[in-house]
Amino acid sequence: MSGFKFDVITLFPKAFELINNLGVITRALDKNLIDVNLHDLREYGEGSYRQVDDKPYGGGAGMVLKPEPIYKAYESIRKSPKSKTLLMTPQGKVLKQKDLARWSTLDQIIIICGQYEGFDERIRCIADEEISIGDFVLSGGEIPAISIINGLTRLLPGTLGDPESLINESHNNALLEYPQYTRPPVFREMKVPDILLSGDHQAIKSWREKKMLERTIDRRNDLISNKVNNNSQKSDVSEKETK
Ligand code: SAH
Repeated sequence: MSGFKFDVITLFPKAFELINNLGVITRALDKNLIDVNLHDLREYGEGSYRQVDDKPYGGGAGMVLKPEPIYKAYESIRKSPKSKTLLMTPQGKVLKQKDLARWSTLDQIIIICGQYEGFDERIRCIADEEISIGDFVLSGGEIPAISIINGLTRLLPGTLGDPESLINESHNNALLEYPQYTRPPVFREMKVPDILLSGDHQAIKSWREKKMLERTIDRRNDLISNKVNNNSQKSDVSEKETK
């Protein structure tokens, strides 16, 4: 059985050596749960200089990626029936855990990494989705692409030692995770809460639920208001459907 395929179009394939050194992801590669194919944009460049970028029409700073090399690289990739193409751009939709979960049911993700001042507008048409990893600007799409490969791979069955660790973690179900402790019970006068040492599983469960809520309200109240809004939108829809 072949694994989940990531095909990445990039000017800096070397940046992806990092994914071989990221713990569980390395294990997924070793077990052939994922397959990462790097497509070096330079090889699709034009002329003897293998040109991939050019000055923007209308003037302005920097260089933009030309459309031809990206289209050629894209067209060289064998697409599976359950495939999606993502374009890395700070103008895209901000990546959420639910996007990773949604894509994890596919069998291929093609990722296009920009560089320099960005890319020719006509490149946008080949993307199914435009994705940003946050409201800040990096020099290239490689780190965003690695984030997606990493985040999606840990959701694939067989990657994590204990799949249960995915259930309560932050951003799954819109709450942040509860505080975690390990040995020793007292470290530099900081004590592990008694309840966690009590062995009372029901009490521990309620304590954790309470902490998840408190922590989310304290740090990321926006997640709670989003959830409330989404739920009320959902109930609006079901009201309409039943009418
Ligand atoms: N001038 C562009 C930004 C170019 S940054 C603009 O204002 O929109 C160069 C490349 O880095 C982008 O094409 C994109 O592929 C990548 N990149 C930078 N920040 C990113 C982010 N937050 N999320 C995803 N990709 C990003």
